[in-house]
Amino acid sequence: MVQMRKNNETTIRSSRSTAPKKDKKGRILDKFKNAKKADGTPMSRQQKHMLRKRAKSMCWICTEPALADCTLCLTHLVANRERARKKIGCKSRHLRSTSYTLENLRRQLRGIRGSQFSK
Ligand SMILES: [Zn+2]
Repeated sequence: MVQMRKNNETTIRSSRSTAPKKDKKGRILDKFKNAKKADGTPMSRQQKHMLRKRAKSMCWICTEPALADCTLCLTHLVANRERARKKIGCKSRHLRSTSYTLENLRRQLRGIRGSQFSK
């Protein structure tokens, strides 16, 4: 029994090892290591961090899983929408768009009834 447990633990540990490979200085060795911007200058480590999150299909602002065919989570998608609306000065809302649909679905799942925008 003990040997089986040890074997199971080792298999779990080996499957869990998704940590990126690093060089001696601790820099991550992946396809973004020598990434360059469009003008040929090297990317900053923050930009590489964002690209790595996108490649893992995580929201590039926080670390929640991103929506399908999107680089943001629902929280940040809604925040971006509202920021853009405020900047442009929109008065109408496209209530059948993806962000509104998913936002309403999330409210229903949480048990919150009504929308703060339905006046
Ligand atoms: Zn997010």
